[in-house]
Order: sequence, then structure tokens, then C-alpha cells
Amino acid sequence: EQGFFYRDTWAEVDLDRVRMNVKGIKSHLPEDVEFIAVVKANAYGHGDSQVAEAALEAGASMLAVAFMDEALALRKKRITAPILVLGASRPEDVNIAAEEGIILTVFQEEWLAKAQDVLKKNTTLMLHIKIDTGMGRIGIRSIEELKAVERLIEEDERLQLHGIYTHYATADELDDTYFNKQLALFRKMLSSMEKQPLVVHSSNSAAALMHADAQFNAVRVGIAMYGLAPSMEIQPELPVDLQEAFTLYSRLVHVKKLDKGEKVSYGATYEAPEEIWVGTLPIGYADGWIRRLQGQEVLVDGKRSPIIGRICMDQCMVKLPNEVPVGTIATLIGSQGKEAISINEIASKLETINYEVPCIISSRVPRLYR
Ligand code: PLP
Repeated sequence: EQGFFYRDTWAEVDLDRVRMNVKGIKSHLPEDVEFIAVVKANAYGHGDSQVAEAALEAGASMLAVAFMDEALALRKKRITAPILVLGASRPEDVNIAAEEGIILTVFQEEWLAKAQDVLKKNTTLMLHIKIDTGMGRIGIRSIEELKAVERLIEEDERLQLHGIYTHYATADELDDTYFNKQLALFRKMLSSMEKQPLVVHSSNSAAALMHADAQFNAVRVGIAMYGLAPSMEIQPELPVDLQEAFTLYSRLVHVKKLDKGEKVSYGATYEAPEEIWVGTLPIGYADGWIRRLQGQEVLVDGKRSPIIGRICMDQCMVKLPNEVPVGTIATLIGSQGKEAISINEIASKLETINYEVPCIISSRVPRLYR
């Protein structure tokens, strides 16, 4: 299952931690709330089917992805659980979704009309309606349009309305003014419907954790399942202890001593200030370890060792704390002894959010599962 690989760089994904995170978040929510595990983007870089299976084992009942291709990839890997596609699918592809039992999102009346034009007879397409309550991305924006969509679905025996949802723009902020506006609008839209769909959901990780009392009957959890806080602002307030599941390792493939004044990497921008030990790691920007990470530390021999000189496509160099043998493990994300490098540290170095970090570690880096 793990596959073979012939390089000294790999990621390890701790599926026990994913399971623990799912259970922890679930135990914080009312018991009848369904857990939809968000596994889009290859499960935020962690591995789609592996995370899906772990989440389902831990009590998730449904999966969500961004695109139909991601849902089909899960079906190919024999994942039979219900899968919701959150993004816009092409109306001309609806027959494939119906055949594979993939649930699509209706986000506009025009989309539905086009889908109805191409949908075969004697088939069932399951749908969730998406309401735009203030995210401004995709979704139905008025009660009139919602009613029209509800009617079109009701009158077409090929269509089955399985759920309805919205998405928050600011659930990861401490100020809940905008969140409450969106929640109120969602409630108003829901109450305008003739019939309430079976599955009603609005919360992402932040809302599931910070507004446990404001749930409908399902939540869509991504980032927290991977053990990461939805934002630095709410991190200190999180009611559940989350464990990071993604770690990244490499091994020193070359170790050498440089004399004072000798240079390292493209542009020869780094100059040894004295006699130093330098190690080469077989990871570079094509692995998602991008050039902006120059200066970031990695752990070698339990100590922090900075990346020196420019990061190359496939390799980078670190200043070692002392002479260490070739083959020594360098931890780029994870812990070694008392030291730890979190995904949040990398995100902060890159001036981005933690979500982006495991997503950008490219498919060239093998993922191993524990
Ligand atoms: N729902 C939708 C519509 C999303 O786009 C996302 C991810 O961005 C999620 C849920 C999961 O969000 P999070 O990872 O913050 O839990």
C-alpha cells in the first residue's frame, strides 16, 4: 500500500491523530450532529482515501471534496461513503455524478436548468443547495431563487434534494458580528422553504469549534481534523486539543566542512563566516519547499539548523550544529527531542495560513502512513 520510493525525503501522516481529532471534535458537538469530513485537495495534502477511511472509522458519515474529479478518485479507491462536491461542477457532467452516487451542489437556478437538460431518464441525481449568505463565492442569494430551485427539484423525479448549506466568511475571527448575520440569513432562507432537506449544514472547523451551540444537523470539518487551528486568532480559545497529523522528513545526503569565506548555492549569496559543517538535503522548491523558506530552520541531531543559501529545485543546504553522519534524519515539520517545528511556524515564515503548507508539499514527496 505504501509503495516504494527511492529518495530520502518523505512525509508521514499519523492517521491515529486524524481519528483522535475527529472524535475530539465530535464529542464537543451535540450527539446527533453528522460529521462531514472535508478531504478536498488530496485531504489538504495528507492523502485523500487514507484520511477518508480514518475519518469514517472515527465517526464521520460523509465526505466533501471541491471537484468531481476528487470524488471520482475516491470512488476509484473504493470509498463508498456519500461524497458531496462543494464546488461548481459542469452541468454536462451530471450523468457521471448520478452513476457514481456523487452528490452535487446547486448554486444557481440557471445551472440547475442546464443540468436538467442533459440528465438522462430513470436516473437519480442527489443535490445539496448552496446558499450564499455573505461569502460571495457561489450560492443562491435570494428567497425567490431558492423557491424556484426548490420547485424545479420537487417537480423533477430524477432529482433528489438531500441537503442544504452555507459557508461562513469570518467564523475564524473572535468578533462574531458578521458570523451572526450570515447565520440569521441562513435561518431565514431555510424557513422560507416548503420542506426542510434532510441534511442541513453551515459550520466549517472554526464554527463547529467556536459556535457548538449554533449547529444544524451536520458540520463540514477540514483543517481541525488535520490537527490545525483555523486561525491564530482563535487558537488560544479552542475547546478541543488538536494533534497535527502531518510531518516532513529528509536525510542528509552529503556532509562537508566549509572554510571561512566559502560559498553556498546559486548566486553564491551565502558565505561561511567561519569554519562550518554543511549538510545537503534532497528537497527543494519542486517539492513545495519553496525558495521563501531560505533561513527556515530544520531539526538535526535535536537542534535547529538553518537553511543557508538559495533553495534549489531539488535540494537545499543547512548549516549543521556539528559534524553528523550522512543519512542523519532532518525533521522539517515535526519534533525531535525537545524541539518542534509546527506547520504554523512554516506558515508564519511564509506569511500565509497553515492550510497552505501541507497543500503545497507536492505529490513528488511520498506520504507514509502510521
Ligand atoms: N466547507 C466549504 C464550503 C469549504 O470550502 C471548506 C474549506 O475551505 C470547508 C467547509 C472546510 O473548512 P475548514 O478547513 O476551515 O474546516
